[in-house]
Amino acid sequence: MMTDEKKKVNLTIDGIQVEAYEGDMVLDAARRAGIDIPTLCYHPAIGPIGSCRVCVVEIENGRGLPASCVTPVREGMVVRTNTEAVREARRTVVELILASHPQDCLQCERNGRCELQALAMRLGIRETRFHREKEHKECDTSSPALVRDADKCILCGRCVNMCADVQNVAALGFAYRGTDALVTPMFERGLAESKCVSCGQCAKICPVGAIHEKEEWQKVADLISDPNLHVVVQVAPAVRAAIGEEFGIPAGTPVTGKLATALKMLGFDAVFDTQFTADLTIMEEGTELIERLKTKGPLPLITSCSPGWIKYAETFHPEFIPNLSSCKSPQQMMGAIIKTYYAKKAGIDPDKIVSVSVMPCTAKKSECARPEMNASGRRDVDIVLTTRELACMIRQAGIRFQDLSDGEFDAPLGISTGAGTIFGTTGGVMEAALRTVYEIVTKKPLG
Ligand code: SF4
Ligand code: SF4
Repeated sequence: MMTDEKKKVNLTIDGIQVEAYEGDMVLDAARRAGIDIPTLCYHPAIGPIGSCRVCVVEIENGRGLPASCVTPVREGMVVRTNTEAVREARRTVVELILASHPQDCLQCERNGRCELQALAMRLGIRETRFHREKEHKECDTSSPALVRDADKCILCGRCVNMCADVQNVAALGFAYRGTDALVTPMFERGLAESKCVSCGQCAKICPVGAIHEKEEWQKVADLISDPNLHVVVQVAPAVRAAIGEEFGIPAGTPVTGKLATALKMLGFDAVFDTQFTADLTIMEEGTELIERLKTKGPLPLITSCSPGWIKYAETFHPEFIPNLSSCKSPQQMMGAIIKTYYAKKAGIDPDKIVSVSVMPCTAKKSECARPEMNASGRRDVDIVLTTRELACMIRQAGIRFQDLSDGEFDAPLGISTGAGTIFGTTGGVMEAALRTVYEIVTKKPLG
């Protein structure tokens, strides 16, 4: 970030006079000047890694071709980003990566959204001069939330940095060297046996399809087609603000009505709103807070809605477990209600109900698989889809989401107050609970 305290540095990039600041990297200075040096391992959320060497540049009177993401600017520096030597070096790097990468783009989960594919297109690479044998590794499907396909890994290191430095988990690391190098949990175990909390941030930042969420939307589509089953869906508050983006609607636009319409068109037998149980969570957590304030602890009370955070506390900070709210998350409360109250009210055998939820987080896939999440005597939530998976399902069904008219969730589990709505924002759960506490204690409604 540019600040006034930093010393200014003047340099030339591709013949353009560029002003930067001490500590800036050549890549940042070039991009600010409108020159888009290609990158692969670099990601602004985790900073430079300097492992892939796609962003190499030429520096006058310098040695070799340094990676611009880890080369600091200097006063008077002359940089060239598009010489023949630079282009050839980039091509060679990308061709070498492609030579040891599976050529199954059409079947890949990231087809069309793959950064390696986009880079190869940008550099005009249609074939590779190299051929490298790589030992085949079985996909790691041990986690309920994520799939790791080491054959597709390009060893960029993004996931390693994200997991260790941003998420503070360090479930992934580099093993071996040279052509045997591998990104893996410790001792090449499965993710399920590692410290992974299923947050999904590695999948979000992986440039290729080497880590991705466990896709289950096609399974849901098949279950809907089974006339012997009653497939019920619940949708989290955050999904209505996020899914529009997948269909060209500006990010953050609430599309609640279109979402309800789309889910009914997909054939779900009942369409419920997780906001109903978000309200229950608020009432329960608010009441629990009042009780703990009376009995002096354990405080502070920490909401238990985030399964990633719960697993993190269990694994790394068990001393905070007494501070966690004893309430289940809205997803799990709704799952239990669907297979008990709703099943009875609708006269449906709960064993014939498939309870699906659409959530903004991969950790919810792990949450529903926890053995204690069976208040109904069976698994309360059977399948969790992410927002992206639901978008795939909608597209596959040929539904033009952006053109849909507004529908409504089904009563009674589709009705909620405004309090549940703020669950979708950071800190919203506790804010909603505190508002409820205020109303219970003062007996005055908040405006
Ligand atoms: S899901 Fe989160 S905790 Fe697990 S490996 Fe990925 S980044 Fe690390
Ligand atoms: S799994 Fe993905 S993010 Fe991690 S090193 Fe491999 S390619 Fe990079």
